[in-house]
Amino acid sequence: MTGTAATSFPLFAAASQEKGALVVSLHDVAPATRHLSERIIKELARHRVRVCSLLVVPDYHRTGASMNDREFVRWLRDLEAAGHEIVIHGYYHARPRRENESLRAKLITRSYTRGEGEFFDIDYDEALTRIARAREEFAAAGLKPRGFIAPAWLLSREGERAARDAEMEYTTRLTRVCDLRTAQEFKSRSLVYSARNAWRRTASLAWNGALARMLANSPLIRLGVHPSDFEHGEIWQQITTLLDQLSETRTPMTYCDWIAERRSEVKNQESESE
Ligand SMILES: [Zn+2]
Repeated sequence: MTGTAATSFPLFAAASQEKGALVVSLHDVAPATRHLSERIIKELARHRVRVCSLLVVPDYHRTGASMNDREFVRWLRDLEAAGHEIVIHGYYHARPRRENESLRAKLITRSYTRGEGEFFDIDYDEALTRIARAREEFAAAGLKPRGFIAPAWLLSREGERAARDAEMEYTTRLTRVCDLRTAQEFKSRSLVYSARNAWRRTASLAWNGALARMLANSPLIRLGVHPSDFEHGEIWQQITTLLDQLSETRTPMTYCDWIAERRSEVKNQESESE
């Protein structure tokens, strides 16, 4: 760093610029969940989160190509125009059970996600085919997906390589955000609820409450919302209370915007050090 401009009040400049970020992602957006998703997006806006990353499934549980539903596509295009981001979220979302699965595979894909880990152990070719197909379908519908996020964040290494080769710019996992262009990884654990049954809901409320306190000073807070969260009053209550608090001091943005900010920071640092 050289020159007087760069050295004057660096701490003050850093503090004023570094208002923390808040990324809310809405998972499992598809024609089947559209009405619920629509209500959730409206509710999020009432709690000052007016843009989020929408994780759209190209063919949710093989019920038909989402992009063939014209009304659904029109709705997504309007959301994208309003500042929301469209993200590719798996292809079918579900992962068929295999014979002779290891205990680890069973535990992760059945207990943790109830069979939704489509990209958990997918091979490179299959992953590339599915992501590239999704990207083409979305682009043909006039959408501009930049990111790929695997169902339940379970993405094999091969799957990650395929996402990069399919020209996806970033992916996220439960505990980090990965810029696929620059290979930079940012540690950040997402808040996420499990609404599947009563004990999981109780555990989720306690865990996310504690996690939100632990993350209070992190530059990025991530919250993954699932349509089913909205149907459980106690979960939705905690989410909205949290959003009211977080949006007071943080800027709600999409993953795409957040990645763009990180890249411009690196550029600025490079030009300062020249
Ligand atoms: Zn999902």
